[in-house]
Amino acid sequence: MRYTLIEGWLRGHPKDGYELVVAHSHAHGDHVAGDGQFRDRPRTRVVGYSAEEIASFFGIANWPQGRARVDLGGRVLEAVPTPGHHPSAVAIYDEATGILLTGDTVYPGRRYVQDFPAFQVSLSGMGPAGSSSR
Ligand SMILES: [Zn+2]
Repeated sequence: MRYTLIEGWLRGHPKDGYELVVAHSHAHGDHVAGDGQFRDRPRTRVVGYSAEEIASFFGIANWPQGRARVDLGGRVLEAVPTPGHHPSAVAIYDEATGILLTGDTVYPGRRYVQDFPAFQVSLSGMGPAGSSSR
């Protein structure tokens, strides 16, 4: 029953060489608990949980002020550090749709903030590149 969803999708979209990246919005247990199922999957990288490991993976030079563009092959995403809820929180901005994926940094309801000053800075800089005061 391991990675059943992925294997099912690959049956409908056969191609050699599919790679998989398992990256998280942050490292709270409810986000990373399933990682073990991917650790021995071929052509799969499970990104580490620390801010340093996330910055290294995305190529963010100056955490948390920096950003990085991630080209998935014709689809460019932007990784935006958003510490506050968690020290290694990162949001993903999809230029194609204008959607900002924020993990637990922004959602309706009660939020838990570990570092409120960092959280305030993160929220002030979550717009498209060039629109923030960072
Ligand atoms: Zn969380």
